Amino acid sequence: MLRFVDTAVQDAEPYAEFAGEAQIERLREIAGELRGLRVLHLNATPYGGGVAELLNSIVPLERGLGLDVAWGVIVAEPPFYALTKRLHNALQGDPTFEVAPEEQAAYLQHNRAVAESVAGQFDVVIVHDPQPAPARQFVAPDHAKWVWRVHIDLSAYNRAAWDFLSQHVENYDAHVFTMPQFVPEPMRDGRTRCFAPAIDPLSPKNLVLPGEIAERLIRWMGVHIDRPLLTQVSRFDRWKDPIGVIRVYRELRQKHPGLQLALLGSMALDDPEGWNIYETIVRDVEGDQDIHVGTNFNGVGNIEVNAFQSRSDVVIQKSIREGFGLVVSETAWKGTPIVAGHTGGIPLQIADGEGGFLVSREEDWAARIDYLLSHPEEARRIGERGRERVRRDFLITRLIEDELRLIAGIR
Ligand code: UDP
Repeated sequence: MLRFVDTAVQDAEPYAEFAGEAQIERLREIAGELRGLRVLHLNATPYGGGVAELLNSIVPLERGLGLDVAWGVIVAEPPFYALTKRLHNALQGDPTFEVAPEEQAAYLQHNRAVAESVAGQFDVVIVHDPQPAPARQFVAPDHAKWVWRVHIDLSAYNRAAWDFLSQHVENYDAHVFTMPQFVPEPMRDGRTRCFAPAIDPLSPKNLVLPGEIAERLIRWMGVHIDRPLLTQVSRFDRWKDPIGVIRVYRELRQKHPGLQLALLGSMALDDPEGWNIYETIVRDVEGDQDIHVGTNFNGVGNIEVNAFQSRSDVVIQKSIREGFGLVVSETAWKGTPIVAGHTGGIPLQIADGEGGFLVSREEDWAARIDYLLSHPEEARRIGERGRERVRRDFLITRLIEDELRLIAGIR
């Protein structure tokens, strides 16, 4: 089944403050050429995770540029999500991949229903990630152009999972990856494009929060603002290694006994593993009053995430694989230093000394964070350089320009 998400219409003009007037002018120009085109973004969840975050900003801004843009979300049954989560894990490198017949049936049946509800109604359909990918094959060829936009880290994909998925994405007009390293060999052809996601500097998650408000928000979550705070913001997902974060925090506590840890994680509609991981974390941290676990189910929304990203001494992103990791740019935008895994899309966003540190070896996590905690002035300078990098390369206006150029090129 398909549900449409109601979104606002956002004026692009205020973004000139960050992106410059010239970029806003370019957006208006390309959008002018595309006026009248009916565009659909299709994904699997309206909340939780990076794709929902992106669409919540892209769709209103594209509409504000005068485009006719809709956002549709697949709503399915548990066997569908069981398969798509396993597919996601295998595409990120899980060694095993199996498909049960009832799961495959659910995957195809839901996508057939989606195809029936969109057929003939749009000129461009942008399909995000593997969940809605098969819909394309159930729509008879017409004038519409279909784009498959994959956000996951495909640098070490499982062959069986790719073979399973690739049959469903063959007949697209364009394939968009975050970076060239993610493009599977058989997909390298004239239809391939690469551009990275980006953050919205005016969204509630990223706007500048007055310091006092940020403090009040994190105090409300039980944090002592006079003691150091380490935070990870991520879905509860094994690729984000939340248990590893707790291990690093415990190691750091030996030198920084007042250190506090916040683990903020959202639950997504299409992620059946989140609750199990959440429960494991809650069991693991029981009795430690200095670890704060928050979710979108107990009041952690965009503003709270903003406050934690703004007010933490250091943010950690302990990813093992990472398609992009919007949280890295979100954090860097606030000038907060971040220690993150040297994996997937993360090195696009920060470099050693520019936004924080990249870590490749397990034994380096605590040392890097300790360094930043112990040198607050330098940590501040490193954070500032990260903000500049985000301003240059990872603001939503750049992403919209890439996307509109893609549409203009294939329509
Ligand atoms: N997020 C959130 N609340 C949370 C945890 C995450 O709003 O408790 C948001 C986070 O701010 C970011 C997105 O979810 O915008 C996660 O995107 P990212 O690209 O980092 O990872 P993904 O979930 O797509 O793997």
